[in-house]
Amino acid sequence: MRLELVTIGSELLLGHTIDTNGAELGVALAAAGVTVTRRTTVADTPEAIREAVAEALARTGAVLTTGGLGPTRDDMTKAVVAALFEAPLAFDPALWDDLVARFARVGRVPSERNRSQAEVPAGATVLPNRWGTAPGLWLEGAPGLAILLPGVPSELRGLLRHEVAPRLAARAGAGRVTRSVVLRTTGIPESTLAERVGEVEEGLAPLSLAYLPGVTGVDLRLTAWSLPPGEAEARLAAGLALLRERAEAFAYAEGEGDLADVVLARCRASGRTLAVAESCTGGLLGARLTAIPGSSDVVLGGVIAYANALKTGVLNVPASLLAAHGAVSEPVALAMAQGARARTGAALGVAITGVAGPGGGSAEKPVGTVWIALAYAAGVEARRFVFHGDRGEVRARAAQSALDLVRRHLLAAVPRAGASED
Ligand code: AMP
Ligand code: MG
Repeated sequence: MRLELVTIGSELLLGHTIDTNGAELGVALAAAGVTVTRRTTVADTPEAIREAVAEALARTGAVLTTGGLGPTRDDMTKAVVAALFEAPLAFDPALWDDLVARFARVGRVPSERNRSQAEVPAGATVLPNRWGTAPGLWLEGAPGLAILLPGVPSELRGLLRHEVAPRLAARAGAGRVTRSVVLRTTGIPESTLAERVGEVEEGLAPLSLAYLPGVTGVDLRLTAWSLPPGEAEARLAAGLALLRERAEAFAYAEGEGDLADVVLARCRASGRTLAVAESCTGGLLGARLTAIPGSSDVVLGGVIAYANALKTGVLNVPASLLAAHGAVSEPVALAMAQGARARTGAALGVAITGVAGPGGGSAEKPVGTVWIALAYAAGVEARRFVFHGDRGEVRARAAQSALDLVRRHLLAAVPRAGASED
């Protein structure tokens, strides 16, 4: 079954409110076996609403709207859609009684304005709203199917889950679902990943593949459209295996998996503890790690060594290294990682030092230059990166790359079996 979404509200166009309803509906409707073919956002004017709903119905035959069902002047979705369906509005006393009772529970009396919320287009099914005052409406007629839902996200969610999704799933035909899986990668540019994956892309059909680049890596999303659940699962599993094979060690998780979580799990499994020494990321790496519940059995702590005095005083970085190479350099990164390890007794010491910008760059060390080092029992290693993006992006990429350096090290490392080797 195909359906279009129309999200209504001038605040959405002004950007004051993010259209979370659209995102939530996309996920829930796909799971109910409904294919959302288009999403339109319009202002709170009768003309804009009429045009968007009429076009969606003409094109697709089914539309779901959110917003504009409240009691105020800018709430006109119901009247506009009722007119399109030539379904006159009629006052529903039972609905009004419900509304009065709902208000009474919180010690209030509905105003005259609220009376409009008890008006129902002829022939419409009322979808009771236990989460607020504006009921949803289900209208079928010559133009097609129109489902009207309130804009308040909690009300939309309740109605979607309890009233709309079950009805749509029944109509979409039992057992057809649209499902997605995501494989997360990091440390590989989108174009390079596409070269690796391109060779098998045809073999993924009928699944669709999307590349979703972000600051911390590229996610690969595979989608099975409108298939029986068993077939969707089997095809997604096979597709995911194919992608994993192509992405090799650049893939670190599925779904919404966090790289920090992966690193912590690997440290935990091999009995390693970890400490950080951060300059340009100012605690971002520590924050990523400690945001994961249960991190305390791995993370011992760390230091934000921003000033050179802290690098020498707290991390024992030799002043001579700073003088000879500068704070953003391989020798200093190595010394910071060793210092973090030595001062805390952690198995792993991770250090970040770089030029986050926008100022401070030079020809030799342009903005975005970051050295990341990892110290362990058997040695120490460092890598130089030049990240693009603004200050926030450089810092985010640096923290992610530091986590990835640890992950890669643990992938290669021999499991620790009580021995001292790292
Ligand atoms: P309405 O039902 O149009 O009166 O919307 C009530 C409130 O719901 C608005 O003030 C917004 O804060 C919120 N809202 C409306 N539409 C959306 C949307 N598409 N996504 C997220 N929030 C929304
Ligand atoms: Mg509104």
